[in-house]
Amino acid sequence: MKFVVVGGVAGGLSFAARARRLDETAEIVVFEKGPYPSFSNCGLPYYVGGDIPDRETLLLNTPETLHSKLNLDVRVNHEVTGVDAKAKTVTVTGPDGSKTTESYDVLVLSPGATAARPPIPGLDSPKVHALRTVDDATRLGELAGDAQTAVVIGGGFIGIEAAEGLAKRGIQTTIVEGSAHVMPPLDKEVANMVTGALGSLGVQVVAATQVKSIAPAADGPDLVTLSDGQEIPADLVVLSAGVKPATAAFVEAGIEADERGYIKIDEHGRTNLPDVYALGDAVTQETAVTGAVRPVALAGPTNRAGRLIADFILDPENARPLPKPLGTSIFRVGQMTAAMTGANRAELEASDIDFVTIHTHPTDHGTFLPGAQPMQLLMHFDAKTGKILGAQGIGGNGVDKRIDVIATAIRAGLAAPDLIDLDLAYSPPYSSAKDPVNFLGYVADNVLSGRLEPWYPWEFEELGEDAVLIDVRNHPEFNAGHLRGAECIPLGELREQAAEVKTKVGEKTVYLSDDTGANAWIGAGILTAAGVSAKVLSGGVNTVFAYY
Ligand code: FAD
Repeated sequence: MKFVVVGGVAGGLSFAARARRLDETAEIVVFEKGPYPSFSNCGLPYYVGGDIPDRETLLLNTPETLHSKLNLDVRVNHEVTGVDAKAKTVTVTGPDGSKTTESYDVLVLSPGATAARPPIPGLDSPKVHALRTVDDATRLGELAGDAQTAVVIGGGFIGIEAAEGLAKRGIQTTIVEGSAHVMPPLDKEVANMVTGALGSLGVQVVAATQVKSIAPAADGPDLVTLSDGQEIPADLVVLSAGVKPATAAFVEAGIEADERGYIKIDEHGRTNLPDVYALGDAVTQETAVTGAVRPVALAGPTNRAGRLIADFILDPENARPLPKPLGTSIFRVGQMTAAMTGANRAELEASDIDFVTIHTHPTDHGTFLPGAQPMQLLMHFDAKTGKILGAQGIGGNGVDKRIDVIATAIRAGLAAPDLIDLDLAYSPPYSSAKDPVNFLGYVADNVLSGRLEPWYPWEFEELGEDAVLIDVRNHPEFNAGHLRGAECIPLGELREQAAEVKTKVGEKTVYLSDDTGANAWIGAGILTAAGVSAKVLSGGVNTVFAYY
């Protein structure tokens, strides 16, 4: 059997390595357009930021090591420019421009994506670079050596990681993001905390704004003009405003793709053409929670797909289908970690799923042990079945493990109250006897059983002037910042004032608040017993501060 693989990085080489492990006799040819196979794309921002001092560390293998270890025929600087599906051949353009033809029994496409290039005048300035290849990172690293100012176009994963690295090098960095907030996959209250963390690093974020033009300068910084009229000098510009799948040659050959060029595949990575498979950043997949079909450009799912496609071709009886991705992802921003899994609010609102959101503000471990770090968690679950639909977290230590546990729970089809049952490791340096994940289960159980009715920061402006807002924190905390129109009745006094509150509010609903939701929930119990209808602000004013 002869395999031809297009793309010699994450997906292509995962496939090739697994194919070799399953079949020692197969012929495996990998074509890689660039000069390096098997490099760590995910490490590139950390090279630009100086965490990875040696560029060579990013290069995980060479064609020679791949040949000696796995007997792969890896041809770098070779671009596949055409496919003849009937003849089962590909056309390849070599480093000298010459064209050759290579036959295949099975063709595997993992060409990834390239940086989208919005029509911004001046984008071809030598100070503007994407961050997708080792050469991009090398050039940005060189520019960063002398730079004082930088502009990052696009506040997604790569933009934020690049900005973090540039700021750590002492460069005055601005992120310009076209959407309402950075990291559009995050819900607003978590994304705003990312903006706060960027601010702590000295990174300025300009959201809901586009870069209009770049005026290149031979001496000194380029001048970046924004749609709001701001002008920002930039010794370097990182272009990270979305991507485009590198699939033009394959679409032209008749491979079915969506209107943006993302290749359509089935649950085994098969395209519409016989014996042609595709994976990685260049394909769409049905996502697990909402069923939306979209690209999920992440290293874990891509590496897994490489293995599973090889299994399907070479050992079909034992093969597993590609799982529908959850999009579990994580990134660091200064001292903070932000992570997410499953669907966000916008995706859920766009689907027909009736869902509930809860917010908590735990610490990574018991506060009695010095060093506890706060985090914000939110979780979406089905309003009827309780099925977990998504979760996000931001904070210091321990966000990663909470989101990974919830990702596992979603994959297992658990309902939110099932999180109560998880036996999670506990000792004071690591967690609390009620781990934040268990605690999400407690809160969800209260909501689903109707004992706790949450209300949300985004409802505040619609409550109207005569809404009754009671804050159960003590007076100094209340005076330090509270919701407009709220009255302070500390929890310790609420019990004795409950009857009075009932007389005052009658049939009206009381909107309770506190710092995190925990005490307001006790307050709701007190008021409910007195015949008052009460709702609890989800996650307390801490969520409000994060949201606005
Ligand atoms: P790639 O790994 O990009 O490989 C595609 C290769 O195909 C490229 O080298 C390209 O040159 C080659 N190619 C394209 N067209 C042709 C052709 N016609 N002929 C021959 N060769 C061709 N994911 C995470 O989960 N976590 C992270 O922290 C993370 N960080 C990232 C940071 C950066 C800067 C980048 C760019 C990506 C990051 N990712 C991260 C995403 C992850 O790297 C990708 O999802 C993964 O690499 C996709 O694998 P792929 O094989 O589809 O594409």
